[in-house]
Amino acid sequence: MRGTNRRLWLGRVGAAVAAGALTEAVPGCAQIKSPEGAGKRKLDLSEFQPKSMLHVPETKVTRARYPVIDFHTHLSFRATSINGVGLGDKLEFLATPETVLPVMDRKNIRIMVNLTGSSGHGLNEAIEKFQRPHPNRFVTFTEPLWDQSDRSDYRKIQVDAIESANRAGARGLKVLKTLGLYLRERVTEGPLVKIDDQRFDSMWEACGSFKMPVAIHVSDPEAFFLRTDRFNERFEELNNHPDWSFHGKDFPSNTDLLEARNRVLARHPKTQFILLHVGNDAENLPYVSECLDRFPNTSVELGARIGELGRQPRMSRKFFDRYQDRVLFGTDAVPNGTDTPQQIFGDALYEIYYRFLETEDEYFDYAPAPVPPQGRWRIYGIGLPENILRKIYSANAARLLGLPA
Ligand SMILES: [Zn+2]
Repeated sequence: MRGTNRRLWLGRVGAAVAAGALTEAVPGCAQIKSPEGAGKRKLDLSEFQPKSMLHVPETKVTRARYPVIDFHTHLSFRATSINGVGLGDKLEFLATPETVLPVMDRKNIRIMVNLTGSSGHGLNEAIEKFQRPHPNRFVTFTEPLWDQSDRSDYRKIQVDAIESANRAGARGLKVLKTLGLYLRERVTEGPLVKIDDQRFDSMWEACGSFKMPVAIHVSDPEAFFLRTDRFNERFEELNNHPDWSFHGKDFPSNTDLLEARNRVLARHPKTQFILLHVGNDAENLPYVSECLDRFPNTSVELGARIGELGRQPRMSRKFFDRYQDRVLFGTDAVPNGTDTPQQIFGDALYEIYYRFLETEDEYFDYAPAPVPPQGRWRIYGIGLPENILRKIYSANAARLLGLPA
């Protein structure tokens, strides 16, 4: 309430008090028994689940129009992590090929890229489980050896690890937001290590020379860097996941993180970088466009950001048009997850992505959940034409992964 409305409201309360119309006080507020306020009830935000009364077309897209490469999935995660830093090689598996292949077949998903394939023995296990028995359906990425990053010979160890991962069959490197937000000088303690720290230069270069694209997650939504209060558009999400807030403490600002990333992109022009989550600034497509223009060695991926793209459909449509050769389909899908509805691997998730990309449906949920999990809004489809759909769904990813189109 602001301006005239607020003054009007205060005026009415004043009048009501004068008339003796206030009932017993609830802490911080009072129920007004005046004609205007009569029967007003309080509703907890978490219980508010409004059903849209719009009569608009609803298209069910059960299958993608063209075969899909989901560039961003997590079929495994490092089993041990301390203060946000994954340690050791050991993996925990969230699915088996037998559990995910039927969904892939139903949804027309040709390939799933398991980004979090760890390193060493863990990586070998991930490859043996998924990629070896189904070489045309699964791709595996390796991850940096964060727990060795404080060693004086780290550069060499890391380059050797990239080389052996490549030999084992890994097709790229995944960098979680660990870099910039969790990794510290003594791995889990001390000051935060900068994204453009020179100890990683030889790793980025090695990826370039082995033609292994780097799928990099830097920073997070802009709202995660603001106070979790009533003005924060992602209040409920941050309230549900307080550890996702990077406000305060010794966290760098969102801008500092993205600028450090940009220095890495500039220093390694022969390495291909896929900026996950629409460069993690889908709220600011002009800035993402600027980065794509500045750095020809970059592409973006869509995972968990159709909520952002779909609430600015006209801007998004132009973005897809302009960068149609540099946008990759991805979902950030996690099998068996429950606390992040926008990422639960399954039919419902893919149908929403396909609806967003293929139709011009209006005002629908961006996640299969009773309350929109990333912010209280709904999205609009952008109805991409065939030629762009083909590129986004698989051609762009196939080119970067060195796979047949
Ligand atoms: Zn992810």
